[in-house]
Amino acid sequence: MMKIKEHCGIFATIGDRSVKYTYEGLKLLQHRGQESAGISYTEGGIKTVKGLGLVEEALNESEVLQIRSKFSIGHVRYSTTGKTTLQEAQPLNNDKLSIAFNGTITNYFEFGNYKTDTEFILDFLSKEIKEGKDIVDAVKHFMDIADGAYSMVILDDKNRVLAVRDPKGFRPLVMGKIDENMVFSSEDSAIKQLGGKIIKDILPGEIVLVNPDGKLLSEKVPSTSFHTCAFEYIYFSRADSKIDGISVYMARIRLGEILARNHPAKADIVVPIPESSRPIAIGYSRESNIPLEEALIRTIVSKRSFIMPTNDKRKSVLEEKFGIVEDAVRDKRIVIIDDSIVRGNTMKRIITLLRNSGAKEIHVRVGSPMIRYPCYMGIDFPNRKELIASDKKEEEISKILGADSIEYLTVKEMKEAIGKESLCSACFTGIYPLKRNYSLQIMENVFNR
Ligand code: 5GP
Ligand code: MG
Repeated sequence: MMKIKEHCGIFATIGDRSVKYTYEGLKLLQHRGQESAGISYTEGGIKTVKGLGLVEEALNESEVLQIRSKFSIGHVRYSTTGKTTLQEAQPLNNDKLSIAFNGTITNYFEFGNYKTDTEFILDFLSKEIKEGKDIVDAVKHFMDIADGAYSMVILDDKNRVLAVRDPKGFRPLVMGKIDENMVFSSEDSAIKQLGGKIIKDILPGEIVLVNPDGKLLSEKVPSTSFHTCAFEYIYFSRADSKIDGISVYMARIRLGEILARNHPAKADIVVPIPESSRPIAIGYSRESNIPLEEALIRTIVSKRSFIMPTNDKRKSVLEEKFGIVEDAVRDKRIVIIDDSIVRGNTMKRIITLLRNSGAKEIHVRVGSPMIRYPCYMGIDFPNRKELIASDKKEEEISKILGADSIEYLTVKEMKEAIGKESLCSACFTGIYPLKRNYSLQIMENVFNR
């Protein structure tokens, strides 16, 4: 049936160019979600436009840009079922509230028979408000009972916008200004690209309320520990973003440098698997003095392999994703770098390509630790049985992939590279920094129904 794990990007704008900036912002967050896009705004009441696909496919640009509202929130969604429906697309609204949400409410299933966690948030907040609670108090109550990851923006029928980051700060959320417009974005790169200034990262546990007149109110619920998702740095965010003060690009360079220092290989060239592993490969090449060779060419038609609904489809997409420069790899000993290995499809395919092109030796070096556990905080990592590293050692994985060797970073090395001790590394360690312990068995059933 339904999986609700999802990556997402969110954006909100308060000001004269609200819908324009929200629309443009979503396009600049497209890497965070390509399955659907939507914008909620107020015009009399709350209205929402949304559709399936990329922002430009999902929303009619000329129609959207005619909307004059000063209050809007937007969402790009990246579900993984392959059968994203318009119903699941966000923002999700009723006549009181609209919500655009990035993360996963780990314990949403305990509160009723909800199809998605977003539906649960909307329902919970709406009930509280109906009972007479102030919206900030309603959000605080939600933060008290909810477990998991949630960076979200909320628009209400009184033209108020709220930006909320969960008390552990799993997912990023940034506040900024573009000319006179106040904006919130999953990543700062989108704000900067629109010519704006960054004001700050929303803090873990912080609620920022923007009143219709632009007045700000900030409240904070207690945050016991900070757990930015390590994978935001490794793969998910744009390389030109800064998350909680750390440059994603520079973190990736350091992942590569430490990988080279602690996991060397005797080789002639370093080859990145584009796009996300490029800075990691640059770091590896610099530190090892082995030249970088762009021997894999990502084709422009390439679809996103990871989000295809079945493994067969994922594999067939991979076939058209990369071309290879045979003359660059023939008779060479190669260090092939990827940011991560999840199921192993990408690496297996590429090793076959390299072998067929006459590579002499292939040493796989991975810019993250072994992904051994599912994520219930907003990144789509599947069941343990689909994760190639869940129950295997390096040697066995190397054999399955057809490599001569494989080495991953350790969790300690990864934290050193990123430069932050307080990261969520649940997918590597199985230690979930949630409020409660959940049985992995039960969670796998809930999230893979
Ligand atoms: P695998 O092919 O091993 O299942 O997945 C690993 C590859 O997918 C890597 O090249 C990595 O860059 C990419 N990757 C890892 N996580 C994600 C994700 O959540 N979404 C997408 N689109 N790619 C991912
Ligand atoms: Mg990749």
